[in-house]
Amino acid sequence: MTSKRYARQIAFTAFGAEGQKRLAESSVLVVGAGGLGSWAAELLVRAGVGHLRLCDDDSVELSNLHRQSLYTEQDAAACPLKAEAAATRLRAINSECRIEPFAERIDHLTIHRAAKGVHMIVDGTDNFPTRFLLNDYAVKYGIPWVSAGVMEGQGQVLTLIPGTTPCLRCIIPSVPPCCGEDDQQGNACCQFGVLGPAVAAISAMQAAEAIKLLSGHIAQANPMMVKFDFWDNTIQRIALSKLRPSTPCPCCDQNEYEYLEP
Ligand SMILES: [Zn+2]
Repeated sequence: MTSKRYARQIAFTAFGAEGQKRLAESSVLVVGAGGLGSWAAELLVRAGVGHLRLCDDDSVELSNLHRQSLYTEQDAAACPLKAEAAATRLRAINSECRIEPFAERIDHLTIHRAAKGVHMIVDGTDNFPTRFLLNDYAVKYGIPWVSAGVMEGQGQVLTLIPGTTPCLRCIIPSVPPCCGEDDQQGNACCQFGVLGPAVAAISAMQAAEAIKLLSGHIAQANPMMVKFDFWDNTIQRIALSKLRPSTPCPCCDQNEYEYLEP
């Protein structure tokens, strides 16, 4: 690890050399190499995360470029797998990080390989069925994760720590009916469109949360669900502790992991 490279980050005393060392020893899974995932992965790799596994089975398209930072017009013309194109770009950004592309769709089978050995998960997906799968996995194996979603000019971020915060199913009991098992139905960017800066800002907050957790500063994790509307200029914050359901949660209270079942 070259200290000069991270000098301006280490100079932030709350993070410091110890935070940098811990970050370099950490491993993260980023699920989705689209808008949220590509920005978050880039920020984590620039910050010096030790190992980043990036999961996506889609290919690059021209319509991705306004919001997906890792891809170029050459990529859009050649249509490589996002996981591979992103890995090439991320290695060029920081050769000290171990970048591992995982070009398979996340499901109840592949998640066990995708998340093997990681310290946390960053949700860069665009659909609720995958988020519920990630939630079941995270709660079952005690892995913190940062979920986020963006649509039109707004987005929200949730830092979910098993055993400490409510889980996603405490907050949203089941997959919303508008976002069914076919993830194309749940893909908000396809249905409603999205502003690139909203994606960048939300994924920056995800990356900040990930850096805090991976560097051992868990007490700094945001205890709020935060919703930003970059079009209407509003911010909403709701304490996660207020989002616990009055009845037991099937996932984190009753250990039922139905999204991990076939
Ligand atoms: Zn729960």
